[in-house]
Amino acid sequence: MIEPMGRPRRDVKRRIIQAAALAKEAALETLWPTRCALCDVPGALICGPCRKTLAFIDANDACPRCGAPFGRSQCTECNSTMLAAAGRDDLPVTAMASVLLADEGTRRIVTVYKDGNERRLAAEMAQLMARFIPPEWSGAHLTYIPATKAALSKRGFDHAELLARELANTTGMDGSALLKRPKSADQRRFDRRGRQRNMEGRFSVRPDVPVPAKVLVIDDVCTTGATVFAAADRLLEAGAHEVYALTFAKVLAS
Ligand SMILES: [Zn+2]
Ligand SMILES: [Zn+2]
Repeated sequence: MIEPMGRPRRDVKRRIIQAAALAKEAALETLWPTRCALCDVPGALICGPCRKTLAFIDANDACPRCGAPFGRSQCTECNSTMLAAAGRDDLPVTAMASVLLADEGTRRIVTVYKDGNERRLAAEMAQLMARFIPPEWSGAHLTYIPATKAALSKRGFDHAELLARELANTTGMDGSALLKRPKSADQRRFDRRGRQRNMEGRFSVRPDVPVPAKVLVIDDVCTTGATVFAAADRLLEAGAHEVYALTFAKVLAS
């Protein structure tokens, strides 16, 4: 097709920008080809064979409250003993779920995403997460566990925010930042009880946004649940009626 003459300048500019973006993408692909986060083979961020090895949690066997695998009838993660150890008599979330068990492969994906700065993995992870949102959670407002200041300055991006954004794109759900995190120590330095103490009350709700009645909190990894529970406490205090949580990975307690 012959290009019409006298094309407006802004259209030409837009085409130049698009061409430059494509050239940049091609150059980056040559310098740093897309590789599988798990096996390093070029081509896809999670290649077909590796995708088949992912440790998906079977929602039919999982605990309907806390999302732990194999906990449908007798949960080892959110029973009264475990809750008492965390200083609670009930879960603050209506329900939570995780996509993958945190085995070596899952940890590798999370590490490549967060510490390897492979931000494109967020879209892949969100696609997997979207399939784990049950129909009862529909209509929930997406939000995320904000990164600590230290993590943000180390990585240059908020990993859970990007996951939530990609999840909103994938599902069409509404979402926004509802939580703020004041300065707190890195959770990885604490044991179970330490994490609980460190996290308790460590969130606040942003004053500029009203909290919707039904909220779905997104995070990358759930270890003890302390982080998500502390966030759920604040959201409930601020007016949420139901808080759900979805994480990419679940670490078992034992
Ligand atoms: Zn692979
Ligand atoms: Zn449970």
